[in-house]
Amino acid sequence: MVWYKDGLRFKCLNNCSNCCTGAPGFVYLTDGEIENISNFFKISKKSFLTKYTRQVRNGISLKENYKNFDCCFLKDKKCLIYTQRPKQCKTFPWWKNNLKTTQAWQNSKKDCPGLDHVDGKLYSFQEIQKNLSDEDLL
Ligand code: SF4
Ligand code: SF4
Repeated sequence: MVWYKDGLRFKCLNNCSNCCTGAPGFVYLTDGEIENISNFFKISKKSFLTKYTRQVRNGISLKENYKNFDCCFLKDKKCLIYTQRPKQCKTFPWWKNNLKTTQAWQNSKKDCPGLDHVDGKLYSFQEIQKNLSDEDLL
């Protein structure tokens, strides 16, 4: 039986932005997302890839500040591409890594104060499964 069969509460507190900074990680992009974000900035895909991305082991990831690990699109604790943000960002915290075990979920709470938040929406098992993503840590 899946440990979160009764659902989980979550509320993004928006202003903490811990999930966009704080530790080395990857934000992977699909071809469609590369196209969308390039269009959003009205630049060519080539320029977008050069300026904002890096080739990593499992694909293409957004660049991050190598000192504080801020995502390249994090500015004043806000996402500059919020409406076009990659699926990996949209599906947080419903990542397989976070949901593997109760312990994994508890560990993720150290970084995200919105997990199990008392005012959070209760996401049903079905809703969680619908959003479930393979993505690795940001
Ligand atoms: S770490 Fe959690 S609460 Fe903070 S911005 Fe990210 S999702 Fe929201
Ligand atoms: S793209 Fe936006 S939401 Fe995703 S990690 Fe970067 S700043 Fe955060």
